[in-house]
Amino acid sequence: MIPSNLVEACFRKFKTVYSRSVSTGFNITEAGEDNNTVPVPGSSDGMNMLGLLVFSVAFGLILGGMGSQGKPLRDFFDCLNQAIMHLVNIFIWYSPVGIFFLMAGQVVKMTDMGEMGQEVGMYTLTVIAGLLIHSFLTLPLIYFSVTRKNPFRFMSGVLQALATAFGTSSSSATLPVTLHCMEVNHSMDTRVTRFMLPTGATMNMDGAALYEAVAALFIAQLHNMNFDFGQIIVLSLIVTASSTGGAGIPQAGLVYMMIVLSSAGLPTENISLLIMVDWILDRLRTTTNVLGDCFGVGVVQHLSRRELQSPGPAGESLMEENLHL
Ligand code: ASP
Repeated sequence: MIPSNLVEACFRKFKTVYSRSVSTGFNITEAGEDNNTVPVPGSSDGMNMLGLLVFSVAFGLILGGMGSQGKPLRDFFDCLNQAIMHLVNIFIWYSPVGIFFLMAGQVVKMTDMGEMGQEVGMYTLTVIAGLLIHSFLTLPLIYFSVTRKNPFRFMSGVLQALATAFGTSSSSATLPVTLHCMEVNHSMDTRVTRFMLPTGATMNMDGAALYEAVAALFIAQLHNMNFDFGQIIVLSLIVTASSTGGAGIPQAGLVYMMIVLSSAGLPTENISLLIMVDWILDRLRTTTNVLGDCFGVGVVQHLSRRELQSPGPAGESLMEENLHL
């Protein structure tokens, strides 16, 4: 997560390697007992995505806090971002042709279409099961344990937002409906909703993170690669970090899969298998993303209920300060 060399992090990643000898200052000594190996820091090919993400977040926070001094660099990155978006827009026009040939390539390579269909079906079911568990168990449990209120009644108040998320596959497009549900149906404080929901629509992607982790494991299993528990934890960290950078637009998660696959050292060509079922998984994970945002607002509103009830002079000056910022 904290690369020692930023340039190197763009093409090499940290890897624990097991060595028979360990260096202790000037001497190289045999490690432990006979045949014992010791873990030592090493590296392997590939981008250190987690390190770059952590650095970027820290750098962005510092730059954001520098006020007018940081403006030239912020303008530079804004400009770079816009130029890249223009390029991406051009590529997107060609994507149907590219996707068609990617899928055709996979179909031609398949030796047993039935078996592959079954595997993709199991992958789809796994993602759906994960999203259902997260939406109906984990999130309600967190909400209930903090607020002691009925989470399912809370969910019924945001049904319209959930239906819109399912229909549009976009957290950002759903934002006005989410705001309406939270402010009108649940009478949430606008100071919480207007800050948290736009942030959540772009940064809080529980569904996308879950999907990306399952998809990466699916591709690893297709290639007979087994991930141990530690690797699954690292993968979860990568997908959580990458999903916060994803946009709340249709199929953004699929684009981020490329980053996840390459940083986990997995082949990217199988992504076309994921595209086949992404139309439905995208809708479902967007619904979970929006639900996560709503529960988040419910929890924060509950935890800050006292501050929100009595703004007082301190509260007012805080709001004024925020407006200046
Ligand atoms: N479509 C999702 C959203 O808008 C993002 C994703 O593709 O994972 O929340």
